[in-house]
Amino acid sequence: MRVIRVLLGIVLLIVFAGYCYFSFVSAPKAADFEAGQTAETAAPQETRAPEATAQPAPAETAAEETPEPTPEPTPTPEPTLDPESPAGRAAALGLPAPPDIDPTSWEFILANDTHSIGEYAPPELETLEGQKFDSRIVQAMKDMVADTRAQGLSVYLSSGYRSFGDQQYLYNKKKAEYPPEGKDSNGRWIVLPPGTSEHQTGLCCDITYIYVNPKDRSLANTPMFQYMSQHCQEFGFIVRYPSDKEETTMVMYEPWHFRYVGVEAATYIAENGICLEEFLQLYGIE
Ligand SMILES: [Zn+2]
Repeated sequence: MRVIRVLLGIVLLIVFAGYCYFSFVSAPKAADFEAGQTAETAAPQETRAPEATAQPAPAETAAEETPEPTPEPTPTPEPTLDPESPAGRAAALGLPAPPDIDPTSWEFILANDTHSIGEYAPPELETLEGQKFDSRIVQAMKDMVADTRAQGLSVYLSSGYRSFGDQQYLYNKKKAEYPPEGKDSNGRWIVLPPGTSEHQTGLCCDITYIYVNPKDRSLANTPMFQYMSQHCQEFGFIVRYPSDKEETTMVMYEPWHFRYVGVEAATYIAENGICLEEFLQLYGIE
């Protein structure tokens, strides 16, 4: 009987010691050290089982195994991103995945000095407050203007759609003021040649608080611009020619020029501080 009791004591001690080490396996290293001590001090209580103190070895091997599985699963999502996809291109620039849009849709027509739209004209024009627009953006424009006026701010629609012919006339006139091509001293366009002005898309508007001529950077200080530039994306518009993107848009800062691109794209563009050219590059449009 005594032998059985001794054996039982040893078995219980092994179970107890195992439990002790197992419970400390997930604790920091300092706790592991303490666990070692408690097991050693616990052992002498049962005088007839000195072998139990040899238990720490299996507990440590268990401790070595546990930290390994955690670091490995994290890198797996990256290889699934196609570097030639919008999300892949965005990730390479440290940007979040862009919205799932069709970059060839009408909202994304790109007109700049390297993307001529020739003699394109919107399919249907609609007049709002004396300016013509692509009829598809009129409701959004009305909503944005009404929201800004609801803040007690005055809004003046200064220039909407301009046809190829209108732009030809304006270009020739302004070109004489800013020879030889209609650019400022930094080489940024002040007036674009016909076919390359965004006004020909009917998707934009020069907006001031009252009739202002000429339009200049001081408009950025008006409460109207400060409010509208913060809220335009809620209606699908962007500040098309930001001050920090002149090298990309090749157009001087225009705190009056708002362009429609739809709410999803406008929100992404505003949140990430990019311009339309950079946004479309995410979809492979260079
Ligand atoms: Zn404009």
